[in-house]
Amino acid sequence: MNITNSWKTGERPTLSFELYPARTEKAAQNLEKAIDNLANLEPDFVSVTFGAGGSTREGSRQLLEKLKLDMGLQVIAYFACFGLNPEDIVEVLDGYKDLGIETILAVRGDTPHDESFVPHPESLTHASDLVTFIKSRYDFCIGVAGYPEGHIDSPNLEKDIEYLKYKLDQGAEYIITNYFYDNNFFFDFVERVRKAGIDAPIIAGVMPIFSVKMMERLATLCGATITTEIRTGIASLAPDDKEGLLSFGIDYAYRQCAGLLQAGVPGLHIYTMDRSKSAVGIISKLRNEGLL
Ligand SMILES: Cc1cc2nc3c(=O)[nH]c(=O)nc-3n(C[C@H](O)[C@H](O)[C@H](O)COP(=O)(O)OP(=O)(O)OC[C@H]3O[C@@H](n4cnc5c(N)ncnc54)[C@H](O)[C@@H]3O)c2cc1C
Repeated sequence: MNITNSWKTGERPTLSFELYPARTEKAAQNLEKAIDNLANLEPDFVSVTFGAGGSTREGSRQLLEKLKLDMGLQVIAYFACFGLNPEDIVEVLDGYKDLGIETILAVRGDTPHDESFVPHPESLTHASDLVTFIKSRYDFCIGVAGYPEGHIDSPNLEKDIEYLKYKLDQGAEYIITNYFYDNNFFFDFVERVRKAGIDAPIIAGVMPIFSVKMMERLATLCGATITTEIRTGIASLAPDDKEGLLSFGIDYAYRQCAGLLQAGVPGLHIYTMDRSKSAVGIISKLRNEGLL
């Protein structure tokens, strides 16, 4: 299936979940449960990340295989090219093609945590190079990442949109955004993207709050602004009130999703961090309210 078809027909917004391959036995058990719960929500597709420097190469493939072949779910395979030898890129993508995968999200990736990792001299520099590379060899429908607040290394928002447009010009067909805690960042982004002449569907990435530590760490890494409302809401909770925090995160993300749906987004993409409780809470509430 080419997922962009459902965005083109625009009958209803899509629902999707991002997953990553488990790194430990315990994480694998938790992921199994999470997948079952998420599958019960009948998403339009699930996506699987690809660890920087190919670190989850096997795990990503296995997870895609399980989701697609064992569970019959539609999948999007992410692929991050940072530091990889073009031959490795071909090997991974050939494997995805053999699995029957039709849709890819092409990202650059970042420097892997593994300090011994040495980027291959012929590795690709930007996600746009990866889009060109894939487009010249495969029939995949390709998507790319977009950043409502701008990519953290970007000199300014104008340049960011210029490079985003270049990725689309190379043949990408859809955009999934990084998460944001204030919908206005998304709405402004969409406006700037459209002004630049990009008409591809823009799927909104939503990250529920799972823990304060994780929220702070990820926001620092990707430059997401933590709103005053979040800071005030968290400050009103006892520091060890994990359930209270989760409920606050579900309610906050629910309200974000409701606002996005009311504004007519073509799709909601939930960053699950391989957990299901928040996604189930958010989506159930949206469906009970008739919003999704
Ligand atoms: C939806 C989504 C999914 C992701 N999935 C993964 C994943 O599975 N694995 C993973 O490792 N990471 C993933 N990431 C993170 C991503 O790899 C990082 O954000 C990375 O830093 C940038 O990737 P990109 O594809 O946006 O890169 P690019 O589009 O290459 O942009 C990177 C930076 O370079 C600039 N730039 C782009 N083109 C040019 C150019 N021609 N000349 C000069 N500057 C340029 C951009 O403005 C930006 O600042 C994901 C991010 C998102 C939003």
